[in-house]
Amino acid sequence: MLWENLLKSDYHDWRGSGHSEDLLDKPGWLEQWLAIHNLPYPGTPSAEELDDLKRLREHMLRIVQKLTVRESADPADIHELNRALSSGPIILHIAESDSDYRLESTPLRAGWPRIVAEVAASFGRLLAESDPSRLRICGNPDCLVVYYDETRNHSKRFCDDKACGNLMKVRRFRARQKAAKTDGSQIHSTSET
Ligand SMILES: [Zn+2]
Repeated sequence: MLWENLLKSDYHDWRGSGHSEDLLDKPGWLEQWLAIHNLPYPGTPSAEELDDLKRLREHMLRIVQKLTVRESADPADIHELNRALSSGPIILHIAESDSDYRLESTPLRAGWPRIVAEVAASFGRLLAESDPSRLRICGNPDCLVVYYDETRNHSKRFCDDKACGNLMKVRRFRARQKAAKTDGSQIHSTSET
């Protein structure tokens, strides 16, 4: 999803090296991101346009952080989401093909304001038409990637079970081993005295 990938652009190394990077500042990232979602790349954004994207990312994250702890979103964040939506008004029209009707949208303004509006719309659709209680933040404290839990029993705890899920399993195993060792040495030293 468009909004999901924008949130991921605030990258933290899930393996725990402490490395973090804002991919929005990385050459080529925006172009690739928009290509994945079939949106035209409007060219290098101005500092202000880049700020708009980063601000939207921040507000979406704050909304997710509230929803994942079963609180309602801060009205200020919803207000900013609405502001982002209004930055790129669209015209809707009905198109017909093979006796099927489609609702198509044409942006009134091209460029980055339209992209900002598209991201806000994709997140808005999730809030309004999907199940926001399925929003999750990865259980790996070094990762914290936001995802939508599509499992049937709402049980997905990590963004990626093979990556973060396994890493956390190994960490828990090592912590248990360490605890067992410490316990063992304590018993040993008390028996010596
Ligand atoms: Zn993760």
